[in-house]
Amino acid sequence: MANYYCKWCGQKYSSVSSLTSGHCSKNPEIKKHALYEGSEKSQYVCKFCGHKYSSLSSLCSGHCSKSLTKKHQPTL
Ligand SMILES: [Zn+2]
Ligand SMILES: [Zn+2]
Repeated sequence: MANYYCKWCGQKYSSVSSLTSGHCSKNPEIKKHALYEGSEKSQYVCKFCGHKYSSLSSLCSGHCSKSLTKKHQPTL
């Protein structure tokens, strides 16, 4: 079964519709979860600063000084 992740908070969902209908406190724009469109990986890299994380949720919980939104964002 596929898993879907929010690219802002790293939360995991079993369907896209339940992901996008939820409230996301980490999305700086619209406060909704947004689908991470990359594949599941063993390592996630921030596209702004290049830091590596072992999970999407740990990437998302960090502060990124190179990002306009001050949040790490994963490469796809
Ligand atoms: Zn979210
Ligand atoms: Zn970063």
